[in-house]
Amino acid sequence: MSHLLQNYRRADVTMVRGEGLIVTDSEGKTYLDCIAGIACCALGHAHPAIAAAVAEQATKLVHASNLFGHEPSATLADELAKRTDLDRVFFCNSGTEANEAAIKLARKYQWRAGHPEKLTILACTGSFHGRTFGALAATSTEAYKEGFGPMPAGFGFTPFNDIDGLKKNLDGNVAAFIVEPIQGESGVNVADPAFLLAARKLCDETGALLIFDEIQCGSGRLGTFCAYERFGVKPDVLTMAKALGNGLPIGAMLCTEAASTGLQPGDHGSTFGGSPVPCAAALAHLRVRDETDLQAHVLAREEHLFAGLHALANAHPGVYAAPRGMGLLAALPVVAPHEAGAIVAEARARGVLFGTAGGNSVRIAPPLVITDAQLDAALAVLGEIAKGL
Ligand SMILES: *Cc1c(COP(=O)(O)O)cnc(C)c1O
Repeated sequence: MSHLLQNYRRADVTMVRGEGLIVTDSEGKTYLDCIAGIACCALGHAHPAIAAAVAEQATKLVHASNLFGHEPSATLADELAKRTDLDRVFFCNSGTEANEAAIKLARKYQWRAGHPEKLTILACTGSFHGRTFGALAATSTEAYKEGFGPMPAGFGFTPFNDIDGLKKNLDGNVAAFIVEPIQGESGVNVADPAFLLAARKLCDETGALLIFDEIQCGSGRLGTFCAYERFGVKPDVLTMAKALGNGLPIGAMLCTEAASTGLQPGDHGSTFGGSPVPCAAALAHLRVRDETDLQAHVLAREEHLFAGLHALANAHPGVYAAPRGMGLLAALPVVAPHEAGAIVAEARARGVLFGTAGGNSVRIAPPLVITDAQLDAALAVLGEIAKGL
């Protein structure tokens, strides 16, 4: 019997190796990876530049804590500030921790500014921000919260993409409005740029901070390094994780100089946050991203992917509906009574890895280095499955 806590619905597959887009299980079966460990392995598996950076850093300095400085985290903070046009970076180990830091920053920023009444963290319906209590309280899906109550107080929700609702809910008691430019877990729902622009305006008027959770849709998945670049709206606070370290655990909360006053020495911390090895992996990821012009590559593949997904929906209207998404983050809705979970399991049996997302959808979030031929091979499997249904 496995001693692992049974908190996951894991597929009965043991992965042992990965190289590029190909993952191999313990039986020697190979898979074309179109989920990338949930949007994490941007450069694919076992990328030589990542492996070399990790190995080199591991022989130099693995851990220093935050009692002292070290070069990888300082350099990475500079690189991220440059690429995001934000000023200050806090490192942690996961997405949920990055959001937790953003929530704490927002509350304390308002408190320090003499506005203790501005404490509400306003989030959207359909949001997913993580599994710790703060991030969970900002997550709208009730199933994730059931039985864990009471949730922390001071969280509210407003309908996603509803500007009138936002005008009503983003009032003088709001410390921060947190939103995913593309809601990943709930079904790859893309924000209307006008909704984000309205959020920016309302936050400026009320003094609330605007937080973008780009943990899934950022770090290059939409082509541009930040998701917000594609929406033309800049937040005060930005969270990232998943793909940042290309599979090594690292999260980051970035903010403007003005917002950064919220957290001062002693206010927040993390023993492992910004540890040298994950920082070295993230730096290698950014370097390869530049050297290979990954931005242009993703934007070109985006067109190919969505053309292919629309073709699937047109060819199999009883199984698939029109896709949602942007960049290399997509959901292909599955028409009832067919089930996305069953289609994903069948694709796995046929050697292609996808995920599911809300709204009975197949989630497609491949390594960003995927080729058109690999995309074609993956989508062909979805077509074959539909034919058999
Ligand atoms: C995955 C995810 C998180 C949580 O990140 P973890 O690293 O699992 O803690 C938060 N927000 C979004 C949008 C995510 O996709």
